[in-house]
Amino acid sequence: MAVVWYSNTREIAARYWTLAYVLAVGAAALLALQEILGPFVPALCTAVVLVANLGMIAGFRAFNGLKTPTWPFFAAPTLYLVLAGAAPWLYSTPNMNAMVQSLFIMVSAFSNAYLVISGTGNRALPMAIPTTVVLVVHGIIRALAIYFTLTQPAPVINGRMEAGWWKLFLLEIFFNTTMMAVSTIILIKDRTEQKHRIASETDDLTGISNRRAFVRDINKLLPESASNSIMAILDIDHFKHINDTYGHDAGDKALIDFVKTTKLQLPTSALMGRMGGEEFAIYLSGDGYDHAAIIERVRRTVEQTSFDYKGLPIRFTLSIGFASVKTVGKSFDHLFAAADCAMYLAKKNGRNRVLTYRPSMRIREVLGDGLKTSGDFSEPTMIFKAI
Ligand code: GH3
Ligand code: MG
Ligand code: MG
Repeated sequence: MAVVWYSNTREIAARYWTLAYVLAVGAAALLALQEILGPFVPALCTAVVLVANLGMIAGFRAFNGLKTPTWPFFAAPTLYLVLAGAAPWLYSTPNMNAMVQSLFIMVSAFSNAYLVISGTGNRALPMAIPTTVVLVVHGIIRALAIYFTLTQPAPVINGRMEAGWWKLFLLEIFFNTTMMAVSTIILIKDRTEQKHRIASETDDLTGISNRRAFVRDINKLLPESASNSIMAILDIDHFKHINDTYGHDAGDKALIDFVKTTKLQLPTSALMGRMGGEEFAIYLSGDGYDHAAIIERVRRTVEQTSFDYKGLPIRFTLSIGFASVKTVGKSFDHLFAAADCAMYLAKKNGRNRVLTYRPSMRIREVLGDGLKTSGDFSEPTMIFKAI
């Protein structure tokens, strides 16, 4: 764990877990040396066990992105040592000391199991369920240890608890420590891989899917898609003008706010991706929705919204083209090209509008009909792009 931490010092969980394992070794050493070191050593050992378990909890909290303040690491052992000083029976018999330690370990094991299983995104990690199982089993076995130490205390010979059941519990501690060390290291590896995968699928600026992830997701959905499913291509009108007028930062902020505003207009089943620059795609597949109405609502909302950049109102409109599975078929490339074709005509016909793809559009495009409303012929290759 120390090596994992050393190789990635930003991994706060590894720091806490290293602390916990080192302290656990320290506690074991203290216990082994108690006859040499004196009668208060069992209490010191329990205090160290307490801090080690806080370290485990703080590690799992850090793994979930939660911060843990430093004061419990000092306050908890201090409180315990004051209590032990006032009530020596808490630690003076090995059975009682083992009971108190088991109590700390049990609480820590159950809290950690809860942290692993409830943390956002954790269930997608292959090691999350096995780790939870190991922790819950550990907590239950510590509960049994509490039960045995209270109801059938082991006979104490030369300061050591001599009972078959206690040896089994010691063996379990050894087994569990090994399992936890392996599990936590694999959890960190799983999380690192998860982060890389998400980063490779997400658009940095807006946080939605990038083109690659969008294409992959739609290809997965298409075979099961209803025929009224649609793909829309949205292109912001004259976006270059926003950059030129307000600066690139303002343009970035407008893109972020645009995505937030648009997502609010979409049903939860909708998928949205950034195809590049100021061009986005939306895929609507849920049954029972009027997809054309949703797309028109997106256009109208953006038209009516004043995006804010440092107090400056930024306004723009969208040109949108969309194509349905019914017209084009269940092929991503065909849907995309058809929606793109309609979007292109929406631009040529004056922008700030939604056009539905119809097969006749391609013929009109080739014949130049779609270009009539605009004298702009600056992108001649676009005419053939969708064909
Ligand atoms: P049209 O109505 O024809 O779509 O005009 P337009 O200006 O939106 O289109 P054009 O393709 O000429 O320019 C797109 C601009 O979008 C150019 C580029 O600087 C800007 N852009 C693309 N990606 C980003 C980005 O991530 N941030 C910012 N600020 N601008 C971007
Ligand atoms: Mg544009
Ligand atoms: Mg564009």
